[in-house]
This record gives sequence, structure tokens and C-alpha cells, in this order.
Amino acid sequence: MRRAMPTDVVTMDKIVSLSKRRGFVFPSSEIYGGLGSSYDYGHYGVLLKNNIKNQWWRAMLQERDDIVALDSAIIQHPRTWEASGHVAGFTDPLVDCRTCKLRFREDHLAQSACGRKPSKHPGETPECDLTEARDFNLMFQTTVGPVAEEGSTVYLRPETAQGIFLNFKNYLQFSRKKPPFGIAQIGKSFRNEITTGNFIFRTREFEQMEMEFFVPPPDAPQWHQHWLAERMKWWTSLGLRPDHLQLRPHDADELSHYSSATSDVEYLFPIGWSELEGIANRGDFDLTQHAKFSNQKLEYVDTATGDRYVPHVIEPAAGVDRAMLAFLVDAYDEDEIEGEQRTVLRLHPVLAPVKVAVLPLVRKDGQPELAREIYQDLRERVQAEYDEGGAIGRRYRRQDEIGTPWAVTIDHQSLEDRTVTLRDRDSLTQVRIAIEDLADEIGNRLRHPWRSPKLDG
Ligand code: ATP
Repeated sequence: MRRAMPTDVVTMDKIVSLSKRRGFVFPSSEIYGGLGSSYDYGHYGVLLKNNIKNQWWRAMLQERDDIVALDSAIIQHPRTWEASGHVAGFTDPLVDCRTCKLRFREDHLAQSACGRKPSKHPGETPECDLTEARDFNLMFQTTVGPVAEEGSTVYLRPETAQGIFLNFKNYLQFSRKKPPFGIAQIGKSFRNEITTGNFIFRTREFEQMEMEFFVPPPDAPQWHQHWLAERMKWWTSLGLRPDHLQLRPHDADELSHYSSATSDVEYLFPIGWSELEGIANRGDFDLTQHAKFSNQKLEYVDTATGDRYVPHVIEPAAGVDRAMLAFLVDAYDEDEIEGEQRTVLRLHPVLAPVKVAVLPLVRKDGQPELAREIYQDLRERVQAEYDEGGAIGRRYRRQDEIGTPWAVTIDHQSLEDRTVTLRDRDSLTQVRIAIEDLADEIGNRLRHPWRSPKLDG
């Protein structure tokens, strides 16, 4: 079998088109003409996103003793956002063009297209008539209760972090944890972004994976370093190519009001280096603010020594949707098998939506019956798929496009000696294996460390 060398052929357009064709991501409300920058996740998108979130939970909870989980409400007491600084300061500078009636982010003008001459940027043509920038708050407002009266205004959370600070006291009481310890949460956040785009990179509704790690104040810098290293290790262990990842420390003028140090994990997307995750040292800003606004004591008291202090907080904050985009981009590949072009997602097997496809070579002679038996057995262990329709080559191509790492093929020999072939998505090797060894073999392969074949391309 001949295989052309893989090359990095990925573009955003190819990812968008594969995502729709294969049921990962659809533009939302399409039958009504779409709603800019809103997306629905299809079957394989749901599976891939779940695998990403499960790997994050695994790294935070299962592999450590010092982090506990939370799932807080999306709508919280409105005072939350006064204390956190979001009501006053969670704004972007908005500029209107009186000529084309479009709106732009002042700090994104160089990347935005002019409404009348898309080859130019806003402000570049003589007809452009831009207003002064004004602050635009990114929080979505709504009202609770049946009457839109004063006092019932609430916000959809723009980050999951604040729900964690609001529960800090509960966790000290029930979890028997003391600093250093963390609280982790995954959930939806909402930001009324002025400029969205680049597919699921920036949307108004998205999922975050955030963890607040509470530490004794003098230890904060060293815990910040710890989390920078841990998070980089997580991204690379799931297959992202190290030469497409970097840590970029924020300049002093870029730091958020609460942060003394932040570094972004950046990925080399087709649009250039862009943020995947922010890892910030938030100091005692949040607990101190919520203590002030709620009149509650939010501090740790060491019962042995009587010491009391407000812990400092280290926060790794990543986006699930951006993570999924990075994994898709990193995995996307095209090559040629026996003169035929194929598209393949070289996803880390633990992330792949489907781990194994079970395919009878022909739809007769008892092959489908045996294949279904194997499928029933495998699906108890891993996400598996059964497919008996169409030429075997087409069925392989379909599985390659959704990133299925292994395919089991049942042929006439299988009925004689109860062996099948096991095909590998990347190396394209096919080994003959006894049916009774199949599940263990797939389990072993899943536990193996994995490295992107694109690194060897
Ligand atoms: P950006 O600079 O790209 O606007 P940010 O620095 O405001 O992002 P954070 O507040 O640090 O982002 O949020 C943590 C993570 O949440 C980001 O690294 C990103 O992965 C994700 N995220 C933030 N905003 C969006 C969005 N509008 N759409 C999708 N993901 C987002």
C-alpha cells in the first residue's frame, strides 16, 4: 500500500466544510438564514467535545487529590458582577461607521473589513466616517420574574469563575480542603462580542473549563509556574504538536485589572497565533471584592495555628470550543492511498469521537451477523460504530474523515477461524487478530502514549 507524505494542508474553510459534511458543527438556525456566529454541535461534535471535557476533568479530578468539582448557576445574583468589576469594566471600545452603518471594535480595526470596500480596513477610505470609541459592555442582560421592573435585571455569566468564588465558603466547610486546593467547573458563558468570527473561535455563547486554585499568598508565583507547566503538558499529551503551541506572557499594559501575571497558551491556527487558554495569577482580588460586597468573611482560618488569610488564586481558563477547533486543525490531513485522495482526522485516539468501526466486507454469507456480534461486544467498552452499507473503501474513508483510529473488518475467513483484520487509520497497517483478543487489543492501544504522525511528515 502506497501512501503520500502528509503535508500541512489545513485551512479554516476546509475545517468548516468537513465539520458540516460530517456532522461535527452546523451553523445555527440555518433554515432561518442563520444567526451570525451561533453554532450547533452535531453527533460527532458532541462526542469530540465530551471527550475533551472528560480529559480535562480527568486531569483536574481523577489524577489529583487537591481539586474538587462545581457546576454553578448561569444566572447569579447581580451584585456578583458589580463586585467582580464586570458591570463597570467588562467593556470593549465600540466604533460606528456613519457611512456603512457597521460596528467595529476599535482595537480590531486593522483586522476588520470596511463595509463598502472589503479589501480595505474601516477608516482607510475617504468615505469612512467613524465615531469616537465608546465603551460597550459585553454582558447579556435579561430580567427574572414576569415583570420587567427595576431590581430584576440579571446577567448571563460572562465567565464561569465567579460562581466558584461565590461558593468558596461552602467548599471550606464541606470539602475538608485547605490551601493549596482548587475548584474546577465546566459550563456555558456568554459575551455579546462586537466582532465574532473565525468559525467557533469567537462566538457569543461558548463553553469554558476554568479552575480556581487557592494558595497561601507567598506561594502564588510558584503555583503559577506549576500551572503553566501542567497545562502545556495537557495540551501536548492530547496530541497538539509542540511546535504549534506557545506560552506568551502578557505585557504589563495588557493585564486585566485583577491580574499580577498572566500567560496565554497560544496555538498556531490558520488565522495565526491565537489564545487557547489564559493562566492568570488573580491575587486576592476576587475574594476580597466579594467579601466587601457581601459582608461575609471569605478567608481561610488555620485551626491549628489560628492563622487567617485571604488566599491568592491561580486560574487556568480554557475554552472548550476553541480547544475543539485547535484539535480539529491539528488533526486535519490529506493524503493519497493507491492514487485516491483521502481526508483524515489524525486525532489522538482518546479524543476521537468513535474509537472503532466494525465493517462486514460484504452484506451476505453470515458476515453481517458475525460483525454485529463483535460490535455488541466492543460497544460495551468503547464508542463503536457498525456500518455495512457501500464499498469497503468508501466506508474506510468515512471513518477516516471523522477520525476513527481503528476499523475491524469481517471477511469470509472470519467465519472459518474467528479472526478479523484490524486497520490503523494512520499507518494503514492491517493485522489479523483473533476476535476474542480484539477488545483487549483496542484497550491496550488506547492506553498507549500517542504522537501526531504529522510531526513525522
Ligand atoms: P480573547 O482575548 O480571545 O477575547 P479573553 O482573554 O477575553 O479572550 P478569557 O476571559 O481569558 O478570554 O477566557 C478564557 C478562555 O475562554 C479563552 O482562552 C478562550 O479559549 C475562551 N473564550 C473567551 N471568549 C470566547 C469567545 N467569545 N468564544 C469562544 N471562546 C472564548
